[in-house]
Amino acid sequence: MGRAELAGRLRNTAPGARAALFAEADAVRRAAVGDTVHLRGLVEISSHCARACHYCGLNANNQALPRYRLTIAEITAAAQAAAACGYGTVVLQGGEDPGLTGDFISKTISAIKRETGLAVTLSLGERDTDDLINWRAKGADRYLLRFETGNRDLYQRYHPDLPGRKSDRLAQLQVLRELGYEVGSGVLVGLPGQTYDDLAADIELFSALRLDMVGVGPFIPHPATPLGRTPFPADAEQVPNTADLALAVIALARLELPQANIPSTTALATLNPADGYAAGLRAGANVVMPNVTPARYRRQYEVYPGKPAPHDEVTGCDHYIREMLAGLGRNAGVGRGDSPAFLARRAAAEKARTGGEQHGN
Ligand code: SAH
Repeated sequence: MGRAELAGRLRNTAPGARAALFAEADAVRRAAVGDTVHLRGLVEISSHCARACHYCGLNANNQALPRYRLTIAEITAAAQAAAACGYGTVVLQGGEDPGLTGDFISKTISAIKRETGLAVTLSLGERDTDDLINWRAKGADRYLLRFETGNRDLYQRYHPDLPGRKSDRLAQLQVLRELGYEVGSGVLVGLPGQTYDDLAADIELFSALRLDMVGVGPFIPHPATPLGRTPFPADAEQVPNTADLALAVIALARLELPQANIPSTTALATLNPADGYAAGLRAGANVVMPNVTPARYRRQYEVYPGKPAPHDEVTGCDHYIREMLAGLGRNAGVGRGDSPAFLARRAAAEKARTGGEQHGN
């Protein structure tokens, strides 16, 4: 699909148009990655952050937010809880926290691998290449780093550089790929100033980057951030920060990247606690990331307000998610649940390598 067609489909809210788009994406999802939904245990390991992103409640200027950082023992216990729930992957996410030193994360990865054998996904923002190399060597499998918006003006305005260091998420995605990580990125939908053409270009960028994973969610204003106080421009090109439009972006991402792993994101469930996750799974998504952060810290990881409360305080497993999957006729995955896009890419690289050797012989 070209950019004009993508933008046209994003704009098309004529009766039945969205339902048709979601059904098309659902069919492509079923053919390419099947009915299995992979569950990832999400551990929010630190609410400290050095950055000042205008959209995010963790930003360093939000003095009202209490900050915490889990210990290696707490993170490993959460990974064990994820394993006990039957999840095959643990996702370690946090603010861009210099207190999460390279060595700390290396030790954490080693401990999780030793004690659980789970696949490990990192989502720790922009980090030095040395850290990314070391973490990969310790066994980190995947990295999630949204480019947030491909519109350079908006990105630079809403995601200020750290002193003396130019923010370049696209460059880091390239490094991650070269290091052999399974690579995920994505965007926010509904930032003030963001247009339909911007989102269409973002979806084209998902394809150009040949992402293994694509995470997309609606922007939810946080009152303690600069964008929590910014009115939306009254402009016909301004995109709304609705679940409906975020679902349309998810559906188009599925059409563009049939073999990617695509989560139904927490932000969708925040806007619509009863049906948000299911709506994403009906519109092309095939992953859900239940939160396994120790309950007492969850309120402090306030990227945006109103995140869903833990559904099952007793076991920590979100049993309602399995019930929802059964209701959708889908099944919960067992094992790592690697992205088929990644596995195909790796197999092709392997073939090229061994083929190359044969030529050399
Ligand atoms: N520090 C890491 C993880 C950030 S939290 C990083 O920067 O990559 C993960 C994602 O939450 C971000 O990538 C962003 O897309 C999303 N997010 C941040 N603020 C948000 C908001 N107000 N509404 C919805 N999503 C938000």
